[in-house]
Amino acid sequence: MTIKQTPFKCPLCKAPVIRKSEDFPFCSPRCKTIDLGNWASDAYSISEPSADDDIPHDRVIH
Ligand SMILES: [Zn+2]
Repeated sequence: MTIKQTPFKCPLCKAPVIRKSEDFPFCSPRCKTIDLGNWASDAYSISEPSADDDIPHDRVIH
């Protein structure tokens, strides 16, 4: 029996992301850098509750 992996998409460009990628949850170092830039420029609102919907429950930091 094969375990079906749930597809995960890059939050920025919606490209498929490999969960084992070192850039996860981003598809590439480029998107990762862009996202960090967004945080630095305060593009994200801390009080935005809907952002939590995009975080997978099985996300584990090793
Ligand atoms: Zn991307």
